[in-house]
Amino acid sequence: MHRTHTCGELRVEHIGATVTLSGWVQKRRDFGGMTFIDLRDRYGLTQLGFNEEQDKELNERARSLGREFVVKVHGTVIERSNKNDNMPTGDIEIKVSDFEVLNAALTPPFTIEDDTDGGEEIRLKYRYLDLRRNPIQEKLVLRSQLNKAVRDYLNDADFVDVETPYLIKSTPEGARDFVVPSRMNEGQYYALPQSPQTFKQLLMVSGLDKYYQIVKCFRDEDFRADRQPEFTQIDCEMSFVERDDVLDTFEGMIRSVFKSVKDLELGDIPKLTYDEAMRRFGSDKPDMRFGMELVDLDDVAKGNGFGVFDKAESVVAINVTGGNNYTRKELDAFTDWVKRPQIGTLGLIYCRVNTDGSYKSSVDKFFDQDKLKTWAEKCDSKADDLIFVLSGNTHKVRKQMNELRLHVGELQGLRPKNKYAACWVVDFPLVELDEESGKWHAMHHPFTSPIPADRDKMDTDPGAVKANAYDMAINGMEVGGGSIRIHDKNLQKRMFDLLGFTEEEAQEQFGFLMNAFEYGAPPHGGIAFGLDRLSALLSGTDSIRDVIAFPKNNMGRDIMIDAPAPLNADQKKELGM
Ligand code: ASP
Repeated sequence: MHRTHTCGELRVEHIGATVTLSGWVQKRRDFGGMTFIDLRDRYGLTQLGFNEEQDKELNERARSLGREFVVKVHGTVIERSNKNDNMPTGDIEIKVSDFEVLNAALTPPFTIEDDTDGGEEIRLKYRYLDLRRNPIQEKLVLRSQLNKAVRDYLNDADFVDVETPYLIKSTPEGARDFVVPSRMNEGQYYALPQSPQTFKQLLMVSGLDKYYQIVKCFRDEDFRADRQPEFTQIDCEMSFVERDDVLDTFEGMIRSVFKSVKDLELGDIPKLTYDEAMRRFGSDKPDMRFGMELVDLDDVAKGNGFGVFDKAESVVAINVTGGNNYTRKELDAFTDWVKRPQIGTLGLIYCRVNTDGSYKSSVDKFFDQDKLKTWAEKCDSKADDLIFVLSGNTHKVRKQMNELRLHVGELQGLRPKNKYAACWVVDFPLVELDEESGKWHAMHHPFTSPIPADRDKMDTDPGAVKANAYDMAINGMEVGGGSIRIHDKNLQKRMFDLLGFTEEEAQEQFGFLMNAFEYGAPPHGGIAFGLDRLSALLSGTDSIRDVIAFPKNNMGRDIMIDAPAPLNADQKKELGM
């Protein structure tokens, strides 16, 4: 028998018991005639004790154990003389009577402890060692609990878990496809799914009614921080539903997940239209943990002879509570921060609200105290607050202000990791214009339906058409998105036409879907949540790599197995390459 207990299990009530434990040597401490070893497994650490006086040979053997040796020990549970309150097993130790080395180990290239000395690259290369560390194991365990909570909820709600194929044809989600050459069909390629989108819609045509799948998706995107070329979605679809049926179902799922994984009741989940989210927060995934909403200053800022404002499409402000205590140097740092190319403003204007109610702005030359007072009124500023102002193209300046809002929020401690605030964003634009090509792009994907009232504008004013699409954002991160789909062949054709597909192209790529729509397609809609992102959010980490067992680095490489790699000549020949 390898063990009677785990390394996290023994307590005072086990004192006197003879036990067998197996695990890894985390640490050895040699004192005079005594040796202590921390033995580790997934469940915890247990201290082993050896004493020269009692057994000289055993103590000597213990001293030959190196870090990460795998050992099986046999002994008696005894009370510790100096207890360790920081360890669940800290009241006891094992008085070892014998042990066996199950496997020796090379010295690991970094310390296997909560705070390791290993850099990211080396830890990825030896990921199996990194995965021995608690902080990483805890995240995988949490991910597994999240998985279970999702399955429990969806199974209880009658969703059917259906697997869809990985070797398919392009599914447009706005990224490039990963392709797989077919040996049996020389010169032809499968694409790996960017999502199971078309299949889940076909399952609705099949009458499955409610589908889900926790599924890998593949997107060949250029490097963007914290993206993985393969990632996991909780992919769902429902028939005979309208938008709010979908939102209610999945609000329920998210609440149930937070309850079972974190024992947390999520607060109210407001629904904001895309336009409202952009106006109030400058973002389609607003961080709702704090206020500091965008204020439109157009009517009080323009027309005062300050050219920058006068020629701007929009003047936008935020009020920073207590921000008047920022020093001049700190304000300069904010200015430099927003002027970096990533944000790209030309400058940053501020107005201090002094304790005595007077104002001091960086544009005092153009705005007297009365004028500044109107700014403060609009921003609902109180004494000792600070107003930041940006101006320019409406869409751009709002996005810039969103960045500044998040930055200030972070500095002010308004975005704590253990606080969660969710919202829905609905009524996204159906399409957006790609400036370069002059073509319309689906903002979600081409299967998303326009809001019925906007349908006629598809020909006359496509940019103004709203989609029946929705996202869920938590803490400023998009965690899920979906839509009510088009289920009518002609409307789908019209959509492809708007997106610049010729009839032949549409038929070639999506003929199967449009044909299916001719055989009684029910109204349907769905959503997909990012499992990696949800796991990261619930684990309080900023990086999805932390919640993926074997992630790729930011060049899309797995540096442990060294992939991607060239093919050998035989493989190439077989594939006709
Ligand atoms: N297929 C979409 C995506 O992967 C989600 C959906 O519309 O259900 O983003």
